[in-house]
Amino acid sequence: MRFHRRWAAALAAAALLTFGATSATSATAVPAVPGPGGLVVSYEPAETEAGLAEQQFLQQNEVLESAAAHANALIGLPRDIPLVAVSCDPPNAYWDPESQAILFCYEYAALFRGIFSERNTEGSPAEQARATDEDVIGVANSAVFHELAHALIQVYDLPATGREEDSADQLATLLLSEDSLHREYAISDIEAWGALAELSEQGDLSDKVSDVHALDSQRYYNAICWLYGSDPQTYDFVVLTEANPEGFLPESRAVGCPGEYAQMQKAWSTLLAPYLK
Ligand SMILES: [Zn+2]
Repeated sequence: MRFHRRWAAALAAAALLTFGATSATSATAVPAVPGPGGLVVSYEPAETEAGLAEQQFLQQNEVLESAAAHANALIGLPRDIPLVAVSCDPPNAYWDPESQAILFCYEYAALFRGIFSERNTEGSPAEQARATDEDVIGVANSAVFHELAHALIQVYDLPATGREEDSADQLATLLLSEDSLHREYAISDIEAWGALAELSEQGDLSDKVSDVHALDSQRYYNAICWLYGSDPQTYDFVVLTEANPEGFLPESRAVGCPGEYAQMQKAWSTLLAPYLK
């Protein structure tokens, strides 16, 4: 499932998407304007050794600040919503309706650092470490955008068009499709789902992750399908066909992916139309 390099090679050719620009099609939007608020990052002191290392990594690289800035540039919130980095056991990232905040656990980053460091085995030790850093950044961005979707659904009382977890994954994909940097993050996210699916099959995961989300390969294939659907010409190498036996997305699923992507883009653009900047 190691295909980051192939994905990365395709990025240069990828057409850039403009999630925000599609909002103009919503003529029936309720009269509203983007709120003045945004995600506001803060750091609680880490309580574990692994957590402390991730706290330093996140702060030095302004990982959460960058994710917040990307979201805040596109979407207005009715008020500031805290994005708080904390130590948690078990590791997680989640929207907390009680405190109206997104919590991102240092140990969640540490969990994925462990997973990716076992998979990033090409190049020098420094190159491997850098690849793992990039993957952790990618997963952190995806997690923040997924939890932002839960926050948006609640604070703007958005109607659900399906399973909320799927909607949240879809908004994360849309935000990750915005530019080439975030498309790199989407690839790290896909690889993370692939790794989790493998660990899950091995029965290795139950004590590591506590999460209401499905950890089966469904999210892995969804993420691939949607990124492929965002630009089928660029990502056609992912489709498994007789001519392309190295592909990994079944052709029967692939044919519907551009439609799935268009549909989720339309749904979220319509839902968020009043609040897009
Ligand atoms: Zn969720």
